[in-house]
Amino acid sequence: MHLIWLRTDLRLHDNTALAAACRRGPTAAIYVITPEQWLAHDDAPCKVDFWLRNLQHLSQALGTLNIPLLIRTAATWEEVPGVLSALCRKLSVASVHVNEEYGIHESRRDAAVAKALEADGVTFHSYLDQLFFQPGSVLTKTGTYFQVFSQFRKVCYTRLHSALPPIVPTPEAQAPLKLDSDAVPTTVEGFETPSESLRALWPAGEDEARRRLDAFADQQISYYKDERDYPAKPGTSQLSAYLAAGVVSPRQCLHAALQTNQGEFESGDIGAITWINELLWREFYKHILVGYPRVSRHRAFRPETEAVAWRHAPKELAAWQQARTGLPIIDAAMRQLLETGWMHNRLRMVVAMFLTKNLLIDWREGERFFMRHLIDGDLAANNGGWQWSASTGTDSAPYFRIFSPLSQSEKFDGEGVFIKRWLPELAALNKKQVHNPESVGGLFGVADYPRPMVDLKHSRERALAAFRSLPQRQEAAEHE
Ligand SMILES: Cc1cc2nc3c(=O)[nH]c(=O)nc-3n(C[C@H](O)[C@H](O)[C@H](O)COP(=O)(O)OP(=O)(O)OC[C@H]3O[C@@H](n4cnc5c(N)ncnc54)[C@H](O)[C@@H]3O)c2cc1C
Repeated sequence: MHLIWLRTDLRLHDNTALAAACRRGPTAAIYVITPEQWLAHDDAPCKVDFWLRNLQHLSQALGTLNIPLLIRTAATWEEVPGVLSALCRKLSVASVHVNEEYGIHESRRDAAVAKALEADGVTFHSYLDQLFFQPGSVLTKTGTYFQVFSQFRKVCYTRLHSALPPIVPTPEAQAPLKLDSDAVPTTVEGFETPSESLRALWPAGEDEARRRLDAFADQQISYYKDERDYPAKPGTSQLSAYLAAGVVSPRQCLHAALQTNQGEFESGDIGAITWINELLWREFYKHILVGYPRVSRHRAFRPETEAVAWRHAPKELAAWQQARTGLPIIDAAMRQLLETGWMHNRLRMVVAMFLTKNLLIDWREGERFFMRHLIDGDLAANNGGWQWSASTGTDSAPYFRIFSPLSQSEKFDGEGVFIKRWLPELAALNKKQVHNPESVGGLFGVADYPRPMVDLKHSRERALAAFRSLPQRQEAAEHE
């Protein structure tokens, strides 16, 4: 028998490791629940719930192919080699197949599993599946990892033109095995079950992911460039949770986008080009994670920015986390995160810049808070996004280009539609006042809504000063 060990690849279709295991012969699937590891990684309760709900769908789908899904529990990844070795012995497993995951803990875990299995004569096979290209295979002429996205993308385009990663065939049904599937638990200790309203926003299963992808590619992708920055519009695919859990693959996304654009990456429909560009940002940050492992350890990509004098301001951090900053666009965005497990990309940048620049609070605080609430939480993309906003990352926003929450609000939510959806207490304000309720005047401003917690101009100057005092590499960027 052969085993597919499922992780963040919870799908039947276009699954490299699953197809490879099935080609070898009778196959069973295993999923290992690791509650303490997930807590240590700040995985959000809504994300864990999403994994479990998707596993239930997948168990049924695998059942139609007579592939049983076994569930085991281990507190941490350190225990996984023992759990898998015992299972392989019990079932006389000849080979174990996985799709590669990136990050130092993931790599260490897989190396330990491979070693334990091989000691028992079980072969361990891992496959490129989450990405288009193997990390380490897209390098500069001098053989280093790219640090600038546009240069990385250029090489990706060339590679995609010459060899588009094909969709992997779905396995056919096998003869039934004498092995029953385990029931998929509906909860895991330590992770609260999210509200039904949150769950309803993110139905589980490959059919739902496919429906979203098809609807986006058919109806929305052409408008993506123009509409993607407006949080009140459904301008983006909302596929991130499905991509992060592997319910849909990046290859499926790429093929769907190319189909709407006559096979072109760099020309044709500007919406499709822009969306493919985002898939490549996803790719870029995962390559960065492998190429610069310090990023996996929550260290700044630019070492000189480790010296920024971040403020220890727990009350201000709490106000940001609890959507009480007194800046409507920030508070509306944070409410969206808390209630839906997702935040619009434009707003992720706006709230991250506000925390790291106007409040001058360490980006790691924001990164952790996001991870604990995002249904699409992904180490590479989250870390990349935070370090971009904090100007500590690769190819990140220069420190002197600080977003003003007010201008961002006026520009991207001009009518205040998004703000009013999440802050009904501001419903009566007109489209000018809604961005800055203080402008309404009066001694107490708007009832039930706090005054701004910081002076934007002064806090901006404070951030500039903190970055200016760093050693010269940041200064050089100012004159680029
Ligand atoms: C501070 C910050 C934190 C972030 N944290 C995460 C995270 O934990 N997980 C996550 O998937 N994305 C993260 N992003 C990236 C981006 O905000 C989300 O991927 C996007 O909002 C998801 O919505 P969508 O599926 O509708 O995206 P679309 O606009 O439809 O994009 C399609 C897909 O491309 C990928 N993608 C898009 N933008 C980016 C990007 N900037 N970086 C990497 N991949 C991208 C995602 O997989 C996304 O689903 C973060 C961005 C910032 C600024």
